[in-house]
Amino acid sequence: MIPSFKQLEKILLQEQKLGYQNKAVIGGLERFANNWFPQALKEATTKEERLKIEKLAAELKNYSQYNTLTEQEQAVDQMLSILRGDLDVTSGPPETGPSSQAVSESGGAEKTSGKPESTSTNRASSSPERSPKNAIKALEGLDAPVTRLPGIKKGYADKLARLGVTTIGDLLSLYPHRYDDYRSLKTINQLTYGEDVTIIVQVWQTRKRQSRANKPIITTTLSDGTGTIEATWFNQPWLENKLTTGRQIVLSGRVSQYLGRLTFQSPDWEPLDKTQIHTGRLVPVYPLTSGITAKWLRRLQKRTIDYWAQRLPDHLPDEVRERQKLMPFHKATSQIHFPDSWESLEAARRRLAFDELLLIQLGVLKQKQLWKSQTGQPLNLNRDVVDNFIKALPFALTNAQTKALKEILDDMAKPAPMSRLLQGDVGSGKTVVALAAILATIADGGQTAILAPTEILAEQHYNSMQNLLEITGQAEQINLQLLTRSTKTGERETILAGLANDTVQLLVGTHAIIQEGVNLKNLRLAVVDEQHRFGVEQRGSLRQKGLNPHMLVMSATPIPRSLALTLYGDLDLSIIDQMPPGRQPVVTRWLRPTERERAYAFLRSQIEKGFQAFIICPLVEESDKIEARSAKEEHQRLQKEIFPDLKLGLLHGRMGGQEKDAVMTDFRDKKTHILVSTSVVEVGIDIPYASAILIEGANRFGLAQLHQFRGRVGRSQQKSYCLLLADNASMEAQTRLEVLETTNDGFKLAEEDLKLRGPGEFFGTKQSGLPNLKLVKLSDTKLLDLARTEALTIFEQDPNLNKPEHQLLAKRVQTFWAKVSDPS
Ligand code: ADP
Ligand code: MG
Repeated sequence: MIPSFKQLEKILLQEQKLGYQNKAVIGGLERFANNWFPQALKEATTKEERLKIEKLAAELKNYSQYNTLTEQEQAVDQMLSILRGDLDVTSGPPETGPSSQAVSESGGAEKTSGKPESTSTNRASSSPERSPKNAIKALEGLDAPVTRLPGIKKGYADKLARLGVTTIGDLLSLYPHRYDDYRSLKTINQLTYGEDVTIIVQVWQTRKRQSRANKPIITTTLSDGTGTIEATWFNQPWLENKLTTGRQIVLSGRVSQYLGRLTFQSPDWEPLDKTQIHTGRLVPVYPLTSGITAKWLRRLQKRTIDYWAQRLPDHLPDEVRERQKLMPFHKATSQIHFPDSWESLEAARRRLAFDELLLIQLGVLKQKQLWKSQTGQPLNLNRDVVDNFIKALPFALTNAQTKALKEILDDMAKPAPMSRLLQGDVGSGKTVVALAAILATIADGGQTAILAPTEILAEQHYNSMQNLLEITGQAEQINLQLLTRSTKTGERETILAGLANDTVQLLVGTHAIIQEGVNLKNLRLAVVDEQHRFGVEQRGSLRQKGLNPHMLVMSATPIPRSLALTLYGDLDLSIIDQMPPGRQPVVTRWLRPTERERAYAFLRSQIEKGFQAFIICPLVEESDKIEARSAKEEHQRLQKEIFPDLKLGLLHGRMGGQEKDAVMTDFRDKKTHILVSTSVVEVGIDIPYASAILIEGANRFGLAQLHQFRGRVGRSQQKSYCLLLADNASMEAQTRLEVLETTNDGFKLAEEDLKLRGPGEFFGTKQSGLPNLKLVKLSDTKLLDLARTEALTIFEQDPNLNKPEHQLLAKRVQTFWAKVSDPS
């Protein structure tokens, strides 16, 4: 045993004796590890010893985070076994237990049986498990909560949850949003200003001082024999004890300048004697949230991937993978996080993007097949009813509306139930088209329903239906009812009775009402508003109601056709790509931050004319909570300092549904002048008097989303305005905002946006109804087609994915879609 091992053994025995209180050494085992690790490495002579040391150090570092006696006891036992050579460190760690994923660079160990490996001495092959049963087990391991990972207690699990990570599988698919290229290794005398580099240096001297604001500043002089350079860190006082004189470190960052001399400002660094994950390579940069640091997450990912990647079986049939020349799954998983090169990263992304598209297609095809295999109620069309309605309208339908209506009516005449998406920009006239189909159904003796995501939208639909029926002189003939949670009990009873005895012909309500077991036994057409919030599963539950109704899903989010075909492959597609004539485009202006006061003055002038305005707060990526807080602050500031004489409403994502509805209702009823809101402001709600919208931090939103915001105004004849304030407009953001100034065409904007951002970000992470596409880009049109073709082939051979070679795929499809029904 090397001296360091003897020393550690003594300390661990002491820790046992003292009852696992982490008191065997002053400062705890974690602190101890910092000094012990480099010393032990110096003494090590064999690879095995070095592996042991890494593993022990990782375990020591985790020690303070174990909070049950059993975990601590196990950890100490395990370290002692490693020290004494009872535990083979060259094989993988056991799957459970506190130390299951200590750093292991050995690669190779493979065991998915779930049996602890502490007794195993032989090294298994390095290829992933191919035995189907074990492979399924390995995949199932990914469903385990992150708390199964060493060192991840509830506190960290909660933080990770904010990044959408609850299971180990989620963590593996929390992809970097960019990579820093720190591969260029230079000596100090080669450095030039502005480049991203890595240097290997020795610490000469580290000093701590206080800034004028009384914040600690650490400055270190570094040398590599060719010269010296200084590096500075702010607010990280502990570095003083880490960057000790003589220490060898690897440092990566951008070369900057201070008083004419080259320096580094807060560069990344790590000890030379460790495997480099933060420096000297393509370094992954992850999305973060408060309480999680870049380094911490990177380390966690590295550990997790080292353990899991090699255990991951490939769910793609070999045939498909070879035909499409795709990187094996385990390799893609490790390369997407820690790529060896840009080429390898792109190959990994392509493979994983293919998976996303394939999995989405397989789910969607299944839905479509299920639905189309039902027998529906073909519509017996009374053409006169439709024609008379159209004639009675005070305007002529646009060509696009006429075409969409024809597609719908043709589809409804078929025996299989219709499942169609009606897409059209805000104000393009979808509602009229839907009403024509509704009247045709009622004329044929069927019941119909319109479902909206919120009460206020349901109410709005009810009003506009009522309105259109009156205009066309049918208000008397059609029994139209509104049913929401606020409907009074007595009235509710009457409506339910009317539905049961088939006298109610058109029911408008929220999704929730329909799911609560309302009896719609003669439902023949369901119109669903805003598919954004209405997932495939919910569509499924609706289908179980009544007599396999025809379904028309309306959406104001324009998506390019190729993408729509994949994402909504279970729906047929009708598009209204034309606006009714005479619409006034919303005047859009992009302002500089210095023009904010002018913007406020402008809003005030609109309000003095009797109009209303929206102010949208900047998007805060970290969390709803922080976003809500900053919206509250902004609301207060505006109310107190800018518009003290006006009434300002506030809307944010942490409010409950009823609270939100109340705020929106107040605004609609002109009880408030200005509505300050986060991005949650209702899609589709009509505020007839709103004539201006001011969007703060406009550069942080996507074009399509900005366009949606803009759709909140300009809903009537008066001239409307959209003012964009960008807080920090890069060239790219400027170009984007300029596009918005020049076009009002939602489809065009969506295309532009998708080019820049890819569908994942385009749709946002919070919406339900679709699995999250993280890696697909719109420029992947070829990949889109390939995945669609492969999905079709697989589906035609084995729709239920029952064949042995599709077992893993079936499991992946299930996990992928499970997220959708539970978008937590
Ligand atoms: P969407 O639901 O697509 O946002 P709506 O159906 O609510 O749009 O229509 C917006 C407004 O335009 C309504 O007041 C509607 O009556 C009117 N409208 C619909 N179609 C036409 C048309 N062809 N010509 C003129 N106005 C129309
Ligand atoms: Mg509408």
